Order: sequence, then C-alpha cells, then structure tokens
Amino acid sequence: MTGTAYRVGAESREETGEPHAPEHADPEDQQPVTWVGALEMTEKREPMDKPDSYDGFRKAEVLGLPLLGWDAWGAHGKTRFAMFDDTPGAFSLGLWSYRRIQYPPWFRDKRGEITLLNWPQNDFVFGNAVDDPGAEEHLRAARELTLSCAYWLWEQGYPIRLCGSVLGTGDGLAKAPYIRESRRIVARQTILEQEIAKAFAPAPLKRKDSVGVGHYSIDLHLTTRTRTSFFEEAWPFEIPLAAMIPVHMSNLLPACKNIGATHLTGGCFRLHPVEWTVGEAAGHLAAYCVLHGMSPSRVADEALEDFQTLLMEHGFQLHWKAADGIPCQDDRQEKAET
Ligand SMILES: Cc1cc2nc3c(=O)[nH]c(=O)nc-3n(C[C@H](O)[C@H](O)[C@H](O)COP(=O)(O)OP(=O)(O)OC[C@H]3O[C@@H](n4cnc5c(N)ncnc54)[C@H](O)[C@@H]3O)c2cc1C
Repeated sequence: MTGTAYRVGAESREETGEPHAPEHADPEDQQPVTWVGALEMTEKREPMDKPDSYDGFRKAEVLGLPLLGWDAWGAHGKTRFAMFDDTPGAFSLGLWSYRRIQYPPWFRDKRGEITLLNWPQNDFVFGNAVDDPGAEEHLRAARELTLSCAYWLWEQGYPIRLCGSVLGTGDGLAKAPYIRESRRIVARQTILEQEIAKAFAPAPLKRKDSVGVGHYSIDLHLTTRTRTSFFEEAWPFEIPLAAMIPVHMSNLLPACKNIGATHLTGGCFRLHPVEWTVGEAAGHLAAYCVLHGMSPSRVADEALEDFQTLLMEHGFQLHWKAADGIPCQDDRQEKAET
C-alpha cells in the first residue's frame, strides 16, 4: 500500500549468500497459513456437521503422508503425533496438550478443557495468502481445512466440539488467519542465516546497533510450493536497528516479523519474544522521532547511543555476553543495501 520495497517467500542464494537459500528466488514459496480453531472436550460425544470439503481433504496427501493423519511433517521431519501425552510410539507431547489453553484442574469452577487447533494437520500448504490472486479462495479453504481437521478428530471417537465462546466469533474459528510468513521490508541491513546459524557462525554476533535480543532455532514449516521444511539451531541473536529501517522509505517502521529478515531467518524472528521486542523497539523509535523531530534513519546515523540509552532505561536488554561459554563477537560494518 505504501510502495515500500519488500520481499516475500524465498530469496536466492546469490542475493543473500545464505547456505540454505535456493539457487533461484521464489516469492511463491511461503510458509503455510493456519486458520486456528478452538476445540472443547465435552462430557459425551455430540453430533458434528460434516464440512463440505471433508472428503477432499481426507484424501489429500502431503509428501506421501495423508494430510489428516497422525504421521505428519513436523520441525524434525516425519513425526508420529498422538492426541494425548506419552502415547507409546508417538512424540511424547500430545497435540491436545501442546496448545491447551484451558485446563479444568486449575480452576475452582467447573469448566471444560479447551485447546487451539494449530497443528501440523491444519497448516494450509495448498496456496498462499500473500501476493496471490487466489488468496481469498486459499483462506476460505484454510478455514475448511480446520473444520475438516476437527471433524476428523470427532470421527475417531473423541468427544470434541468447536468451542464458540473463546475466539470472539461464535463459530469456534479465529477472527483472522495466522499468516506465518509475512512480507519483509528491504532494510538497510538484512539479517542472514550465516550470521546466526550455529553451523556457519563461529560465535553469537554482537550488533553495535542492537535494539533488543532474541533466541529461537530457525524453524520453517512445510512451504507451499517446494514443500520444504527446515530446522537449524541458531545462536542467541541481537536485533539490529538497521534491519528496522527501510531502504527508500522514511517514517515507516516494521513492528513484528516484517523486519529485514529473510525467508530463513524469519524462521526464528517470527516468534513471540522477538516480535514483542521488535514492536516495542518500533514504538520507542517512533516516540523518539516525534520528540526530537528526527527521521528513523537520522536516529540510526546521529543519535544511536542516546536512543539505546533510552531503551535500556526502559528495561531493554541489548546484548548477550556469551552463549555455550563462547563470547559474542563484534558485527560486520553496517552497509546500506543498494
Ligand atoms: C496462531 C498463532 C500461533 C503462534 N504460535 C507461536 C508459538 O508457538 N510460539 C511463539 O513464540 N510465537 C507464536 N506466535 C507469534 C506470537 O503470538 C506473536 O509473535 C505475538 O503475539 C506478537 O505480540 P505483539 O504484542 O507484538 O502483538 P499482538 O499479540 O498481536 O498484540 C497487539 C495488540 O494490540 C492491539 N491493538 C491493535 N491495534 C490497536 C489500536 N489501534 N489500539 C489499541 N490496541 C490495538 C491488538 O488488539 C492486540 O491485543 C503465534 C501467532 C499466532 C497468530
């Protein structure tokens, strides 16, 4: 809408130098969206309507595995999942408790058990929601997949129903889809796999212009075009201010996973604590710009230390000291992208 330069999907290896980037850029190879639903465990099994698309999804396969099945593609490749914890032969954490948001023993009043359906089975890998002429249809189908997933569980005898009371919609589906991979600004600096992946960087990187810290592994869900999933350990990382400043646009700031990460590094920047920090840093930067009559890029060039002092006064942690006993190493010189 603003005309800001951005990227989506996979960048090419030539563009980023990332060891795991594909040879050719593929904007259509995005991580799947998920239309989350809430499920409630009931005392006895009630009837459930069969969704229109159920038969189609029941027959669908993803990389040779039935989409609606307990063997699915997880962060560590093909994994056998189960409904409940410690089921023999399956991943020990049951999918029901993995996303459980209401657990009756923790409440004095009587209430049911509720979980959020955001599982490998309802990752929608059949089309994109970003920059795709079919986006509306794909999102409709993603909703249908979640309804079908609920019906599939019910069909196996579980006493579940869609829970209309917790998501503000009445029908048990979320108000909006979870877009796992967003557009990302082309920033002054792009955060790259080789800077943060343990396999390629000898030590955690200290960023001179850090505005916060984060840590998670690079974790990509099965993508929509090449059906690639990816998991790689990352060092604890720092968030560079230069990754929050668009190259050709002033007075516009990213506030979550839309910072200057890549398809790969977005896999560890899309997480909760990181998005929080990026959002809070963006809020502080906007306020600083207004108070001092400066643009974000001027703050980065002329007032970095003062801005970082403000962040620290407000409780931000800007640097890690070391990880796994290895001291952080200074970053490369920032250079503007052309
Ligand atoms: C389905 C799903 C699954 C996820 N799974 C994981 C996971 O497993 N692990 C993980 O770490 N992260 C996960 N995430 C990501 C994580 O939830 C987000 O990174 C995090 O919620 C972002 O926090 P935030 O505070 O920046 O934004 P939000 O949580 O979106 O908070 C923004 C708030 O601002 C409010 N708001 C917006 N506009 C206005 C306005 N004009 N005035 C007042 N209020 C306003 C909104 O109502 C909202 O409450 C998931 C996200 C989703 C959607």
